[in-house]
Amino acid sequence: MKSEFDICIIGAGMAGATIAAYLAPKGIKIALIDHCFKEKKRIVGELLQPGAVLSLEKMSLGHLLDGFDAQVVDGYSLLQGNEKITIPYPIGYKGMGLHNGRFLQQIRASALQNDSVTQVHGKALRLLENDRQEIIGVSYRESITSEMKDIYAPLTITSDGFFSNFRESLSNNEKSVTSYFIGLILKNCDMPFPRHGHVFLSGPTPFICYPISENEVRLLIDFPGDQLPRKQLLQSHLDTNVTPYIPDCMIKSYQQAIQEGGFKVMPNHYMAAKPIIRKGAVMLGDALNMRHPLTGGGLTAVFSDIQILSEHLLAMPDFSNTDLIHEKIEAYYQDRQHANANLNILANALYGVMSNDLLKTAVFKYLQRGGSNAQESISILAGLNRNHYSLIKQFACLAVFGAFDLVRQSLVNLPNALKILLDALIIIKPLARNELSLGAVVSGYFKHKD
Ligand SMILES: Cc1cc2nc3c(=O)[nH]c(=O)nc-3n(C[C@H](O)[C@H](O)[C@H](O)COP(=O)(O)OP(=O)(O)OC[C@H]3O[C@@H](n4cnc5c(N)ncnc54)[C@H](O)[C@@H]3O)c2cc1C
Repeated sequence: MKSEFDICIIGAGMAGATIAAYLAPKGIKIALIDHCFKEKKRIVGELLQPGAVLSLEKMSLGHLLDGFDAQVVDGYSLLQGNEKITIPYPIGYKGMGLHNGRFLQQIRASALQNDSVTQVHGKALRLLENDRQEIIGVSYRESITSEMKDIYAPLTITSDGFFSNFRESLSNNEKSVTSYFIGLILKNCDMPFPRHGHVFLSGPTPFICYPISENEVRLLIDFPGDQLPRKQLLQSHLDTNVTPYIPDCMIKSYQQAIQEGGFKVMPNHYMAAKPIIRKGAVMLGDALNMRHPLTGGGLTAVFSDIQILSEHLLAMPDFSNTDLIHEKIEAYYQDRQHANANLNILANALYGVMSNDLLKTAVFKYLQRGGSNAQESISILAGLNRNHYSLIKQFACLAVFGAFDLVRQSLVNLPNALKILLDALIIIKPLARNELSLGAVVSGYFKHKD
């Protein structure tokens, strides 16, 4: 099928708009479809780990972080009871806190300024197939006229986010809700450590905060379970499990935000990537793969995927050879698995750790000791260290440290020490099975030694 486009992108969100902004200046002809191009107010994607910032810079898109009051983040702090620790990001790297909606508009504008991008206002409804079941484009309903229209392209990228319509045709993914995040904006709020991401461990469930503009802080409060919290339950969760643990310096802004009542609630998913490789289409972003947002790893994964996919696509002379495109899609899926495994495992493993009283105390003490273990752990969190051996080593060291620390205090703690080891295994085993191969860990070991 002859087409005026090389790529049709479904969803001009973080993934779709960014890959369009990267590929369009290289002359690739793109149809960029979304049913809403207006600025959204969302509680997602507001902390970019250094890995995400680095990917943007490598794609020469670092300037998209300028000019809308995004804030530099230097590292993380953990707070438990009266104790506080800070761990800086590796030297030379920075994270960014920002308004996701403003950032996305900036990325979209950068994509749409290229003549090679055609903006399409519409809701994509169905992938188009030829008689060999290859995907040849998409059928969509135009926003203004409600007319059904088709777009043809040798490659369709489905980047329509976490409620993707197209997963069924392109993957075997199993999606589960791990918990919910309740999002609030705290105005004129002094955080315990300026320019830091904060993880508060004093209450029964974690909550986190980071700056998103010069005078605004995003607070994300975990609500465990897979059921959307009802209003009353949400209020009692805040009253009992959160308010008593908000630090004094933040309480005034917090109470004001609660009074104004503008909270948003979002589900936190885990979904390992299990793509079905079909000719003519590829999945990108949350449509393909999700992890708990506690570590802010989502955009690190998205931008890294964009780099990997683009590198493969740009190695082709053009988009005329559908067999070659297919080879490139296969290579992308293979490479991205390795690149994102640490981000995916860490996010859900850390959520498991922080929801477990014994492990939560262990992780705090483990990081409090500082040194090379704390540095290696933060470089994994930052999305800079993708070595699988490093991740498994740090997780194992944490569990052993926690168990040993308990026994060192008193032999009476032996059952709890064994429980820590068992709980750690229960947390990591299904994640490692989904995301890792033994070969990848072993090869990580040799790279780590070098
Ligand atoms: C509560 C929460 C907090 C998070 N916080 C962070 C964080 O701090 N840092 C971080 O790195 N990651 C974070 N994440 C993850 C991150 O936000 C996502 O990984 C990222 O936004 C995924 O981008 P995407 O392009 O796949 O999806 P989206 O950005 O959601 O984009 C999807 C786009 O597709 C469009 N669309 C959908 N269906 C159709 C259709 N049928 N036709 C046309 N268009 C369509 C939508 O309008 C939208 O524009 C968080 C996630 C959650 C749930």
